[in-house]
Amino acid sequence: MAQIAAVVSGARAAYNQGKTRSVEFRIQQLKALERMITEKKEEFVLALKKDLHKNPFAVEIYEMSGILSEISLAINKLPVWAAPEHVPKSMMTLMDTVYIHREPLGVVLIIGAWNYPLATVVQPLVGAIAAGNAAILKPSEVSVNTAQLLGEILPQYLDKDLYPIINGGPTVATEVLKNPFDHILYTGGTNVGRIVMEAAAKNLTPVTLELGGKSPCYVDKDCDLDVACRRIAWGRYTNSGQTCIAPDYILCDKSVQDELVKKISTTIVEFYGADPQKSPDYGRIVNQRHFKRLMSLLEGAKVAYGGQNNEEDLYIAPTIVTDVDPNSKIMQEEIFGPLLPIVTVASADEAIGFINKRDKPLALYIFSRDKKLIKRMIAETSSGGVTANDCMIHYSVDTLPFGGVGKSGIGAYHGKFSFETFSHRRACVLKSLGFEKLNSVRYAPATDSKQKWTLWLLKKRRGGGKMRLIALALLGALFAVMMKFYFFK
Ligand code: NAD
Repeated sequence: MAQIAAVVSGARAAYNQGKTRSVEFRIQQLKALERMITEKKEEFVLALKKDLHKNPFAVEIYEMSGILSEISLAINKLPVWAAPEHVPKSMMTLMDTVYIHREPLGVVLIIGAWNYPLATVVQPLVGAIAAGNAAILKPSEVSVNTAQLLGEILPQYLDKDLYPIINGGPTVATEVLKNPFDHILYTGGTNVGRIVMEAAAKNLTPVTLELGGKSPCYVDKDCDLDVACRRIAWGRYTNSGQTCIAPDYILCDKSVQDELVKKISTTIVEFYGADPQKSPDYGRIVNQRHFKRLMSLLEGAKVAYGGQNNEEDLYIAPTIVTDVDPNSKIMQEEIFGPLLPIVTVASADEAIGFINKRDKPLALYIFSRDKKLIKRMIAETSSGGVTANDCMIHYSVDTLPFGGVGKSGIGAYHGKFSFETFSHRRACVLKSLGFEKLNSVRYAPATDSKQKWTLWLLKKRRGGGKMRLIALALLGALFAVMMKFYFFK
């Protein structure tokens, strides 16, 4: 355990040398990370097959493509993101240089989850490197093969001292969390999220918590059910339902329930064949504990399709459960597996009420032709993100922040938001030593006219185009002359 403290303090010592301050260095590390992903693709495919029965397509699309596109975005945009951001000024600071400087936070900790074991570690790392931090990585021990592979190859590509990787389970994670960090980004379940936040509070460390929850999927009667069912089946059964933003349950009118079952089951056969256990495209439950947990959610449930399972193979068929009681076991916790309950509601208003009575979800899905209804549901509910007429797509848009709200998470990342998450926005005002008379309006002794002028100077905010700035500069000069004549003769 002393070893863990040594790794963290080693990263801090390396950070303090100042290498990461240079944008060139960060870009060079990002390029090395890009090379690691492309050169070691086959090894990742093998490890992820062992961990979760992922096929090469799933690895490339769901684990690697997001990382690679974020790296390329960061490399292209970093000079702009890291440049000083000049901001509008008040009359008081008109002659000064006023800007936001994004500086690295220092040494950050990234804790990953097992369901996308590569993406949940490396995607945040892109933002941490881009922002100029040192980063300690703690992948999930549950996806052991991917964690070990990362442990072996990451040091072959990245600076070993600045970006060390620590592998291990909860005991190791607990020990890691005893060390001081400048930010922690954790991906995983809510209960451990609380533990992470508690540990962070001891050092007043800010956190980003990428959690989960039950993401509802409302299917309106006025909808193309064929398209909706294909997209819902894709969202629910990809990675055997072990996706944080998978649609967790369907809310719909009773009159469409049977049709949904028919169309989703037809889609399942189309995607995975009559026996999904034989399909190379269908995943496995990560371990026995989760297998047993999922099977227990089916106790007493009305299985309308699927339900076949094999513990030895950690296989649970794509399953649909109907007429689900909102108080039943399957509705009490995030399913995180290939089970899809359907809860019937009498109207969109009832669906909105149903969603609002529960914890704020990570994602919300609305399928409808009625654009007004979609906008109303967005306005009258809350969730980390929303996709209408599809599932999970908002995750892939790197110009959108990805994160939860309330119990589904704190903070967000992806694209520029990752850079912001791992940066401190430092307020900078660079004044000259001149204009002392102008500045004197704020000094004692106080007079009524000084007070009036000071308040006026502070209140007026200006910003915008070149002409306006020139006009302001002229106004400022005129003001300085006036001050000189009227107050400081
Ligand atoms: P997990 O078991 O892999 O745990 C997550 C991490 O927490 C691991 O690295 C683990 O070692 C660590 N950990 C476990 N116990 C700990 C402890 N006592 N102290 C400190 N660290 C500890 O993953 P999980 O919790 O089963 O993950 C599943 C959850 O993650 C689901 O709720 C899912 O929705 C959520 N998730 C969210 C996202 C997202 O981006 N929002 C992505 C993936 C998964």
